[in-house]
Amino acid sequence: MSAVRSESPSTCPVLTKFQRDCATPKPFLRKVADAISDDMRAGLAVQGGGDLDMILTFVDALPSGKEEGLFYALDLGGTNFRVRSVELGGKEKRVVAAESEQLSIPHELMIGTSEQLFGFIASKLADFVAKEKPGQFPLEQGRKREIGFTFSFPVYQTSIDSGTLIKWTKGFHVSGMEGKNVVACLNEAMEAHGLDMRVSALVNDGVGTLAGARYWDEDVMVGVILGTGTNACYVEQKSAIPKLQNKSSSGTTVINTEWGGFSKILPRTIFDQEMDKESLNPGEHLYEKMISGMYLGEIVRRVLLQMCKTSDLFGQFVPVKLSSPFALRTEDLCKMQEDNTDDLMSVGSFLYNFLEVEANLKARRRVVEVCDTVVKRGGRLAGAGIVAILEKIENETKRMASGQRTVVAIDGALYEKYPQYRRYMQDSLVELLGHDLASHVVIKHTKDVSGLGAALLAATNSIY
Ligand code: ADP
Ligand code: MG
Repeated sequence: MSAVRSESPSTCPVLTKFQRDCATPKPFLRKVADAISDDMRAGLAVQGGGDLDMILTFVDALPSGKEEGLFYALDLGGTNFRVRSVELGGKEKRVVAAESEQLSIPHELMIGTSEQLFGFIASKLADFVAKEKPGQFPLEQGRKREIGFTFSFPVYQTSIDSGTLIKWTKGFHVSGMEGKNVVACLNEAMEAHGLDMRVSALVNDGVGTLAGARYWDEDVMVGVILGTGTNACYVEQKSAIPKLQNKSSSGTTVINTEWGGFSKILPRTIFDQEMDKESLNPGEHLYEKMISGMYLGEIVRRVLLQMCKTSDLFGQFVPVKLSSPFALRTEDLCKMQEDNTDDLMSVGSFLYNFLEVEANLKARRRVVEVCDTVVKRGGRLAGAGIVAILEKIENETKRMASGQRTVVAIDGALYEKYPQYRRYMQDSLVELLGHDLASHVVIKHTKDVSGLGAALLAATNSIY
């Protein structure tokens, strides 16, 4: 990377303009954090008051560690589907045993019918449950196994175990679900597969991450997802939620911000606008489209295509593959940015394999600069969002000012596997929070705890 950054200013007009349009200097980032804060407050005041839905999750009690029994968890993410079982042994023994299975979601199911999608989920759950070995928690007569269902799309929650889909995101467009209870859809499919189980907690992956991480660390206050899509959930004081109205206003509850929906004052370029226009949810989730894994590669592809057409990135050659939407993945950007050789050998061989082009050193550097520009903007904007949440928590509790450790648990392959993204995010966090407050903040990567969190919330909300 140093070889790239120390280069003299770029002379490619498309790239120069793109870099300028993507810039997120501190004063601007401050405005983004403040705008997110404003929308958080507006969404807490009335439903639909701001870009952020600020959904009430009905999770008032987070796991304490005392949970016991065998619970299941289903996780429908953007790319993968996971089924797991967790045996909880209480405060001392904690997680006694856990099994899990991961499957990728066939693309046709993402744009099919709800019967097809939930039928697939139920059939995989049935296969998994059939393998359950007699353990230390035999099923008692008249009871059902309980499930925590992580459903990572915006849901208007009506209780801890029910909620209706607000809209599909992340490339999903399943018909027949508008206004339907997500849990009822799963129940119908389970019944059709002869499965006598009960969903005791419907949660989103951010809530699952917060709950799972809290099980191991009681200072966890925020759960963030940075994977295919993005979201954040946090612990809020009930007294700071006007829309709770006559419900009890003491204690805390978890708020699902649905921050992916934030859409104001973002540094959107022509490439962002065109990608959005052609997406399945145009005009929506603009923050998500700048900071999450599904989109970073696609933005870079669009910039590179333009550079080929108007700035002779690869001479006169315009690789066919660059015209194919989503052909370049965020993983590919990451792989290219891993190359810290002076002559960017592996960037060259990636471009050769991917685009069938012999890219000279100048072209390779430019490609990496585009990747870095998109990833820097994404990471810094994600950092601004986390700052908005931390400052809201601080405003209500003053916990950091009083020296209390405050943990942000982050899950998702984008954060996990992209070191540059991680660094840009962390830098912006310190930049905006200042060293004093930031010194009490711990950013923790908590891999795959959302499944555990969902199982724990099924335990916490067990009907037995
Ligand atoms: P989900 O969001 O579906 O629950 P993950 O958390 O596994 O799933 O995130 C998957 C996303 O993470 C992919 O869509 C991709 O954008 C991104 N990703 C996966 N691997 C990498 C990688 N090596 N580098 C950067 N991003 C990655
Ligand atoms: Mg996930």
